[in-house]
Amino acid sequence: MRIRAAVLRHPSRPVEVEEVELDEPKAREVLVRVAAVGVCHSDVRHADGDLGPGKWPAVMGHEGAGVVEAVGEGVTHVVPGDRVALCFVPACRACRYCVSGKPNLCEVVAEHGARGMLMDGTSRLRLPDGTTLQHGLRTACFAERTVVAAGGAVRIPPALPLWQAALLGCGVVTAMGAVRNVARVQPGDSVAVLGCGGVGLQVIGAARLAGANPIIALDRVPEKLELARALGATHTVDGMGVADPVDAISQLSGGGVDYAFEVIGRPETIRSAWDAIRPGGTAVVVGLVPDGVEATVPAVEFLSDKSLVGTYYGSGDPALELPALAELALAGEIDLRGVVTHVGGLEGVEAALDRLRRGEGARTVLIVDDALAGYTEPDGLHRH
Ligand SMILES: [Zn+2]
Ligand SMILES: [Zn+2]
Repeated sequence: MRIRAAVLRHPSRPVEVEEVELDEPKAREVLVRVAAVGVCHSDVRHADGDLGPGKWPAVMGHEGAGVVEAVGEGVTHVVPGDRVALCFVPACRACRYCVSGKPNLCEVVAEHGARGMLMDGTSRLRLPDGTTLQHGLRTACFAERTVVAAGGAVRIPPALPLWQAALLGCGVVTAMGAVRNVARVQPGDSVAVLGCGGVGLQVIGAARLAGANPIIALDRVPEKLELARALGATHTVDGMGVADPVDAISQLSGGGVDYAFEVIGRPETIRSAWDAIRPGGTAVVVGLVPDGVEATVPAVEFLSDKSLVGTYYGSGDPALELPALAELALAGEIDLRGVVTHVGGLEGVEAALDRLRRGEGARTVLIVDDALAGYTEPDGLHRH
């Protein structure tokens, strides 16, 4: 079938919406009609070629929600008409990582996903001239429709508007997992969050849910610090307004925080997260650092029980957690609306990427299908 999709032809060129060909789902695959998608900083990394060579030509997008339109042979967990959030690690449930409780690290996904292919190593996408297109970040949801591996379509409660559900599959899973599965933040723990974009704001929300106090948010953009307060930050540090942000965090927390979350993906801020934790504290790197970039810390400080840890996609079982996170959103415990600063159509993808490059605003949601997305222009959030 012919669909419109945002295509990355080459990092030197802007991402444009084009007509592409999408094949029917094969066995253990699901065809999803996309309602809405979120634009994430990892999409900027993809578009700018920072994920390493060979990640194009591709249909972009990895955070979204929609409705199942058709299923391939052997798919039993969803049926046409189900509302789903997209999960960009469709775990195979059989490899050594999957069977040992780390489905986020599924090696089948890693093997084929790195080449932009589905779980059988092939693509369902091509340009009209026949050129194979990659399924960008295994999801390719900046499109009217997408075919994903079975595990990539997770049924969610129908009451949640899909324009909000679109945010669950990357930002929310990643942030909640970093706080709950990796740091295991307890009530009264002190937390600093470096970077208040779409994911950082959800980290703040997750820290609030966990009962952390204080929750110190650091960003260079005053508007994002305001959002951080709304999401649960008890203190904010303007990275442009103070001489030494780490010192500011240290003072606010009485000598360093228990947990610092780096949600930017830069070596300088990874170092700041390390410097911001107390002895015995843990710095969690959530941000995606460009391929080939190294980060350093003063290694003697490992002697003070400090830890520097990584996380990928929440470090849990995203397919299990997504429906529960949707329920938390419905119950008002997770604020999806609060991280959205811009709403547009699919054609707005390059403008959304540019805003992220400039550090402007938090999440942009692109409404692909108005009726399906259930978007009703809440106060102060207008489509443009
Ligand atoms: Zn993402
Ligand atoms: Zn696996």
